[in-house]
Amino acid sequence: MAYYSYPNKQINIPYLLKIGEGKLPKMGRYLVDKNFNNIALFWGEGLEGVLGNILTKSLQTYGINVIYKQEVKFINIEEVNKVAFNLPYNIDAIVGIGGGKALDFAKYCGYLLKIPFISVPTSTSNDGFCSPNCSLLVDGRRKSVKAGIPFGVVIDLDIVKSSPRVFFYSGLGDMLSKITALWDWKKAAQKGMAHYNDFAALMAYNSLDLLFIKHSFDINSTEFQRSLTNSLLISGIAMEIAGTSRPASGSEHLISHALDAVSKYPQMHGLQVGVSTYLCALLQNNSSIESLREVFFKTGFFEFVEQNPLNYYEYVDALRLAPTIKQDYYTVLSEKDIFSQAVELIEQDEILRVLIKKSS
Ligand SMILES: [Zn+2]
Repeated sequence: MAYYSYPNKQINIPYLLKIGEGKLPKMGRYLVDKNFNNIALFWGEGLEGVLGNILTKSLQTYGINVIYKQEVKFINIEEVNKVAFNLPYNIDAIVGIGGGKALDFAKYCGYLLKIPFISVPTSTSNDGFCSPNCSLLVDGRRKSVKAGIPFGVVIDLDIVKSSPRVFFYSGLGDMLSKITALWDWKKAAQKGMAHYNDFAALMAYNSLDLLFIKHSFDINSTEFQRSLTNSLLISGIAMEIAGTSRPASGSEHLISHALDAVSKYPQMHGLQVGVSTYLCALLQNNSSIESLREVFFKTGFFEFVEQNPLNYYEYVDALRLAPTIKQDYYTVLSEKDIFSQAVELIEQDEILRVLIKKSS
């Protein structure tokens, strides 16, 4: 859905934004500063046992009451609705702490009740922690649902840093996908099939620069993790400004969604997206292909995926399905003969051949 007919629409940004080390122990102060005294808390599975004490201490110090708390296990939209409308009436803010599910759950509750949502990601495996959408189960299938940008984002790099490497590679793949998404968006606009927003595109390009001009590609360094986090955050806001997911999602995301549908064991979102970004950049003859290849190599992304490659047969099925996933949605995959070109590339390109394998 596009908002282009409402040029003066209000754009939301996170009003509380803290990224750095030692942020979770300061949560109480951040919340009090914004006059939030009564909160609902949604935890990712198993996280309360690890982080509960730190948070409780901070909340108690500042007299913040946890009126409701829940561990999030399921994300079907009916359940989120039920929980949201049964929450106590005196809640000032909803806090979600965790990876994807807890944030999606809490974000949607906040959106339904028009209560500020504060996103506290414990890993940065995709741009969902600061995007205007959430991923919920609708009729048994994962679907992106509109939910509004978070009121607050608090990222404690001490916590993020301890997450497994796969999360960073996934976040990196999701971030680099802006390269192909922006190409698709621009081309779609030229064909009269989308409305381009120069400012949102500029933000998304700038967020990529943060990664490309980094001298360190060591994914374990705080410096790299901070850049990745900042980039993902800005790309989330670019979607809010554009009023569409176009600046952050294009052909490469269609392939990943298709892989989720056809794969026996889908891999993490950003890994599928990252590999598909490389393929789609080749198909687009994208001018950033060299930089893209460099970042993927230097960070060890390719090497990481190679250890557990995508399945060739599933990938080919996904390629066939991908252009049909969204109606009237131009991407490079809409081009004539692109399917056979893509299959040829995954069979012959020396990088793709080891990332997508028949034997896996
Ligand atoms: Zn994504």
